[in-house]
Amino acid sequence: TTFEVQCRYMSEIAGGAVLAIFQDVTHLEQASQMRRDFVANVSHELRTPLTALMGFIETLQGPARDDEAARDRFLQIMMDEANRMNRLVGDLLSLNRVESEERVRPKNNLELTELLQSTLTSLRPLAEDASVTLSLNAPQDPVSLIGDSDQLRQVFTNLVENAIKYGSSGGIVDVVLTLSERDAAVRGPAARVQIIDQGPGIDVVHLPRLTERFYRADSHRSRQLGGTGLGLAIVKHIVNRHRGRLRVESELGQGATFTVILPYGAGEH
Ligand code: ADP
Repeated sequence: TTFEVQCRYMSEIAGGAVLAIFQDVTHLEQASQMRRDFVANVSHELRTPLTALMGFIETLQGPARDDEAARDRFLQIMMDEANRMNRLVGDLLSLNRVESEERVRPKNNLELTELLQSTLTSLRPLAEDASVTLSLNAPQDPVSLIGDSDQLRQVFTNLVENAIKYGSSGGIVDVVLTLSERDAAVRGPAARVQIIDQGPGIDVVHLPRLTERFYRADSHRSRQLGGTGLGLAIVKHIVNRHRGRLRVESELGQGATFTVILPYGAGEH
């Protein structure tokens, strides 16, 4: 192939540099494969609700034209499908934004306990609908750190929303904030936020791939609950931007614990 010819040629003139070039080309090939997969996934995710919408429009133009009860029901389903598309586009835009900002260090001061409290307050109606109790456990003293408060709010919203959605009805979602002098994950002082649910948990085989775009452990359930499959990918980019770490611990039938570990102290106060 052209590539091999090029390699042989390069090897004559550059010796050891060939391996590096080979790795670079492999990397480019992987990146473009990932881009193709992403475009295929987005198209598929958009086409599903779109096909449903077109089907209902056709039915309303034809057989159900004069059926008032059917019309109301179909319009509601159409609205749900349109909402699904809207959520997907919203999440795609968020993903794009957080990816492009990943290398820009956040520089605003924020108070973590307050941020968690107000995030939970806005999620209370959703929790009540699912008969889930939200509880927050945090230190008495304020926990100040440097970060992007809108983005961190999105992190905790996504994680607590998942805990409510996938957790068990009638159960509790615990949010626990703790500080530690030294956390190996961030090689220094850290603030840890754990989001713990009592739901069905996640099979360990899925854990390594959970933050990939559109990866779902339980595809049927995610779609039924209106998930886009992008929430954890967004979370991962924001946590990276804050030089933090995201951990997931779970076993089937044992609930799930998502932990966000953020650097704290030394320059972060
Ligand atoms: P989605 O929009 O599908 O919820 P996410 O990126 O937020 O997408 O999550 C990816 C997948 O991880 C979900 O589809 C679900 O299968 C699994 N998941 C996330 N959080 C939990 C949880 N607390 N309990 C069980 N499964 C979860």
